[in-house]
Amino acid sequence: MIFKTILDKTFRLYITAEQIAAAVERIAEEINRDYAGRELTLVVTLKGAMVFSMDLLRRLRVPCRVETISAKSYGNAVESSGKVEIVANFDTFRGRNVLVVEDIVDSGLTIAAILDKISQYEPAETAVAAMFSKPAMRKTDVPVAYLGREIEPLFIVGYGLDYAEYGRELPDVYQLADT
Ligand code: 5GP
Ligand code: MG
Repeated sequence: MIFKTILDKTFRLYITAEQIAAAVERIAEEINRDYAGRELTLVVTLKGAMVFSMDLLRRLRVPCRVETISAKSYGNAVESSGKVEIVANFDTFRGRNVLVVEDIVDSGLTIAAILDKISQYEPAETAVAAMFSKPAMRKTDVPVAYLGREIEPLFIVGYGLDYAEYGRELPDVYQLADT
């Protein structure tokens, strides 16, 4: 199916589940290589990164602890604002090799706020893994050590990403079709 309708919007197939799986596999190998002989604390950013994180987790061969973090940015459903509220068990990050797993880095403001907050709890090391990135949308420079793929500045759904809480279950990724 090339098109999906979610609520009032039409989306067009953009990235297939097979392409995503290949990217996850590559990222997992990079992480396995970089963290060999060490332990990892995977920090899943809710809710968008749940699907990517669990696909990644199953491909890791280093001891992993899993924590969650939630960063709610306020604004409408399609564009991100800059204001972020962050919730996590921050004490679990102290002295750990933290890998923050994000679904997508857009303006970069969310991940920048997350990294800033986590740094206050003195992890041994912090890195970011993101499935998607929209470099054209960046408002602040953020380090993404592990990236699935760069995409155009389009709104996407599927593979954990939602439109007004719908579409997360789609195995493929769809872009908002122009109307
Ligand atoms: P940023 O703070 O980098 O601008 O945005 C980060 C968050 O905005 C992401 O974690 C994600 O929740 C949301 N976001 C950004 N772009 C998209 C998109 O194309 N589709 C969806 N569903 N969410 C997005
Ligand atoms: Mg997110």
